[in-house]
Amino acid sequence: MSAEQPVYRSVLLLGPPGSGKGTQGKVLSQMPGFVHVSSGDMFRNLDHQSDLGRLFLEYSTRGELVPDDVTIRLWRHHMERMAKSGQFDIKRDVLLLDGIPRSAHQAEMLADNVDMLLLLHLQASQEAMVERIHKRALQENRLDDINPDVVRRRFQEYEAATAPVLEFYPTDKIRTVDAGAAPLEVLRQIIEVLQVMLFPETLQHSIAV
Ligand code: ADP
Repeated sequence: MSAEQPVYRSVLLLGPPGSGKGTQGKVLSQMPGFVHVSSGDMFRNLDHQSDLGRLFLEYSTRGELVPDDVTIRLWRHHMERMAKSGQFDIKRDVLLLDGIPRSAHQAEMLADNVDMLLLLHLQASQEAMVERIHKRALQENRLDDINPDVVRRRFQEYEAATAPVLEFYPTDKIRTVDAGAAPLEVLRQIIEVLQVMLFPETLQHSIAV
């Protein structure tokens, strides 16, 4: 890859389907200096009639990953558009990556593009997540979540392809939070980790309770 790739300071939210990456990413992106980018949303926002939109539906309805070259190319375009439109400021903002990189190979492809400041591992058991996913499927009309076989397939995909992303980054950049806890508690844990890892100077302002 050429050396001219822009380098994005990033925090990766990594966890199985339903672990709350999207929920937490959206909340945190309300904070100045954080921008949430979900590859799942990026794909879902494609025109379903376009070639890329059709390709996405073909894979996602089977619970499979879209091929790496297409995914990475689309993501790079997406980031360039966000930077151009002012939604993302490369100097000021930290990217909250959700859903990408989703395999060790994608992590490798993005190595020159992403300065990984922190990997937040949202750890959760499959059983606890299945119920959440079922609710979400009904609330958000997500085609990929409605079929239980597809949901199972996505968990297998997570274990086989995505969990190895944890091996790609140095352990001192990885912190694990309990994603099975209530969403507010997960948020509290994440904020604590972000403070310690990214903004240690703000810790002196902690309030005693
Ligand atoms: P999840 O509920 O697991 O967070 P997402 O919304 O992130 O699901 O992704 C939905 C679908 O979009 C995936 O099943 C996959 O087909 C596709 N997808 C999302 N991100 C990627 C990626 N980084 N690489 C390949 N496919 C992806």
